[in-house]
Amino acid sequence: MKIAVCEFHQETNSFNPKPSSIEDYAVFGLWEGQEILSQGHGPSALGGMLDTLESSGVQVIPACRMWANAAGPVEDGVVRDFLKKLLPMLHAALPLDGVCVSLHGATQSTASDDVCGDLLEAIRRTVGEKTVIAASLDLHANVTEKMQRNAEFFCGYHTYPHVDFYETGCRAARLCLRRLQNTKKTPVTVRTVVPMIVPASASNTITGPFAELIRYGESLVEQEKLLDFSVFQMQPWLDVPVGGSAIVTVSEDPDPRWAIDLAQQLLAIRHELQSNLKSVEEIIRIAEKNNTGKPTVLVDSADSTNAGASGDSAFVLEKIQEMNSPVRAAIVLSDLPAAKRAFQIGVGNCGEFEIGAAIDPTMSDPVTVKACVRSLHDGVYTQEGPAKRGLVNHLGPTAVLKAGNTEIIVTNYLLGPGDLQLFRSHGIEPTLYQLVAVKACTSFRVGYEPIAREIIEADTPGAASANLLRLPFRKLPRSFYPFSEISSDQIPQPVILR
Ligand SMILES: [Zn+2]
Repeated sequence: MKIAVCEFHQETNSFNPKPSSIEDYAVFGLWEGQEILSQGHGPSALGGMLDTLESSGVQVIPACRMWANAAGPVEDGVVRDFLKKLLPMLHAALPLDGVCVSLHGATQSTASDDVCGDLLEAIRRTVGEKTVIAASLDLHANVTEKMQRNAEFFCGYHTYPHVDFYETGCRAARLCLRRLQNTKKTPVTVRTVVPMIVPASASNTITGPFAELIRYGESLVEQEKLLDFSVFQMQPWLDVPVGGSAIVTVSEDPDPRWAIDLAQQLLAIRHELQSNLKSVEEIIRIAEKNNTGKPTVLVDSADSTNAGASGDSAFVLEKIQEMNSPVRAAIVLSDLPAAKRAFQIGVGNCGEFEIGAAIDPTMSDPVTVKACVRSLHDGVYTQEGPAKRGLVNHLGPTAVLKAGNTEIIVTNYLLGPGDLQLFRSHGIEPTLYQLVAVKACTSFRVGYEPIAREIIEADTPGAASANLLRLPFRKLPRSFYPFSEISSDQIPQPVILR
């Protein structure tokens, strides 16, 4: 039995004007053929697929892999390059029994609103109708009808903060194998969609109503009512004409009842899945009084690079300056010109810096501050995890500046924004500050919760704002929560796939 494996990954934030270019993919390695086998094993969806397939004894055909961090829409040429490499590889390996594809699921390009649908359609055309296609996706995927028409299985993460990349890859590969091996009882996918989005932080699976919904889905699998399930909460910064939060269930008996059940429950908790945002000024005042030895963590999720925002806003610094606050604060942002200027000025020297809005001048404004250069770095650091533990990030030229009582890391690529090592490896120990501003949505909580006095979500500007009514959506349908109220009769009858 022959099964091909490939990966194309990027989470698109439609409101970030900076597209993902081939350089943004090259940072994470462009792998082809044997490179997938030599480098693809690890705590990723691709790694889970490879281990599952290899241990089952099937012949694995390694195709190609391109992975990039969240950002604005992918340049169309990047998607075309991927297909130019992938399709001949699949064609040369025909006939294929299966294809396991690791995707994000919410990817837009400069030419298409449904890159994952396009990729699956192109793969289907190449391999034919009999080949089983199984995809692993992010929990924040937008599982479209086009995707549905062109693959048998979709498995999304069950965790947010995401930590089950590997397990999700295993689930997709196992379903592919099961379908190929089990000719009598065939696992079948059922899908429906709830026309809603909620702030990303609301899809927390550690505590709260969404966590309970995931536990309920897991109990259906434990009781063997389902073989697999996913509750996709379409990531809320994707402005596309066809979208929604999809429920996908897999069972041998194509019974739509569980998909309807999960969809109704998701609809029912929509009002609870909201963020409670405080103003930056209010959080600074709280932090000024914090002398507990544990920092107040200000969550600047609107500018989270993990959510595709540019990570370049100096809004918190601006407020500290405006308030003339003595708060001991640590902040980080993408600002290559400021980092370059720090390298020119040199360690121990001071000067005037313009900080912020270096990538996206539409979301925030630059701040002029007098700052001293404390240290200069190559920007290479290793994440402590728990998700992506051991991942080595290359941020590019990085400097630590000090303006008043605020330490500012300025860098090129803001990668791993929720990892404590982002600060620690640049000489900033978060527990020694009253205020630490983190540009992440939820991923940071696993690391920060044990060391934080409190974690407060801030109402800040950015392409990943939790205040969804603020964002300039143009394409999403009108009858869509939270832009209008929805009811259970707007949930379509589940569709049984392939
Ligand atoms: Zn996600």
